[in-house]
Amino acid sequence: MPYQPKENRYESMKFRRCGKSGLDLPLISLGLWHNFGHSDDFRNARSILRTAFDLGITHFDLANNYGPPYGAAEENFGRIFHKDFKPLRDELLISSKAGWDMWPGPYGNFGSKKYLVASLDQSLRRMGLDYVDIFYHHRPDPDTPLEETMAALDLIVRQGKALYVGISQYNAADTARASKLLKDMGTPCLIHQPRYSMMDRWVEEGLLDVLDTEGIGAIAFSPLEQGILTNKYLKGFPEDSRAVRDGRYLQTDKITPELLSTVEQLNALAENRGQSLAQMAIAWLLKDPRITSVLVGVSKAEQLKDNVNSLQALDFSEQELKKIEELLQA
Ligand code: NDP
Repeated sequence: MPYQPKENRYESMKFRRCGKSGLDLPLISLGLWHNFGHSDDFRNARSILRTAFDLGITHFDLANNYGPPYGAAEENFGRIFHKDFKPLRDELLISSKAGWDMWPGPYGNFGSKKYLVASLDQSLRRMGLDYVDIFYHHRPDPDTPLEETMAALDLIVRQGKALYVGISQYNAADTARASKLLKDMGTPCLIHQPRYSMMDRWVEEGLLDVLDTEGIGAIAFSPLEQGILTNKYLKGFPEDSRAVRDGRYLQTDKITPELLSTVEQLNALAENRGQSLAQMAIAWLLKDPRITSVLVGVSKAEQLKDNVNSLQALDFSEQELKKIEELLQA
């Protein structure tokens, strides 16, 4: 069946300006790190992307090495894009990244101009796109001059292969340096992609202030702690969960009874607010206007619907915020 996007798709989604740019991002974006590899169900992947777009999610986030195997998520995204989304290209923000290991030898990793330029060319071929909207350096590389890595991002924009650039996992000091270099070249840094959730607060120790000062947006990855900040592990380890089914980045032995006790209490608080825990965890991030978008992953389209419903209750009382802090610090 040809895909007919829902006509009311922009009615419920809210958008936020990305730093001091001209670009709005949906409050919830979709990441393709998991569930879009060659071992995953293609029909499910397609249904997730269609559901996302129907919910007003205009931003899909990829990287060169999402899979498995590396490159597979971009290939599968490209197949779905050409079946369903090609006429909708100008309604979509598609991002990719390079910075982690991708191909053998000295030119397939880290932060050289050689790697970044070649990797984006490969990503564009895999997805069958002329350009990406955002291209990121995926992680800091202490052994490559920041000047070279930022010059590579600037070059990529001048070549027309990306419209905007971003950085991921950079600390506050390196972000400030990268921002200055990019501004001086005339290609301001659009966005930073840090890990940020109720349970991982490092960005509050300076990074968010730098982003605010520099006019850079923020998109929080792993906002649900890969599924821990949902109700899914409260009654055991479901067979189809990431911790059981995959286990590469989330292992069952890391989900301890102590952790689950905190999750259980957070879940009760969420229920009192009339939300699922996933919804509360997303809303909690969005209470800070410096967070442009929350970048979720999902293994099923239903999870995305659940997550987008977080937008129905974004406000917190002082008492709720205090209680959340108490639970997290216990
Ligand atoms: P999340 O923290 O959102 O975890 C996603 C997982 O949580 C899903 O696969 C699903 O687990 C579970 N989940 C999601 N919604 C629900 C729900 N409503 N109810 C129950 N369970 C739910 O994010 P990810 O860790 O997947 O990261 C999101 C994106 O961030 C990635 O796809 C990628 O684009 C980006 N990212 C960037 C990184 C970087 O270095 N820049 C690093 C990591 C991620 P299950 O599969 O068990 O159903």
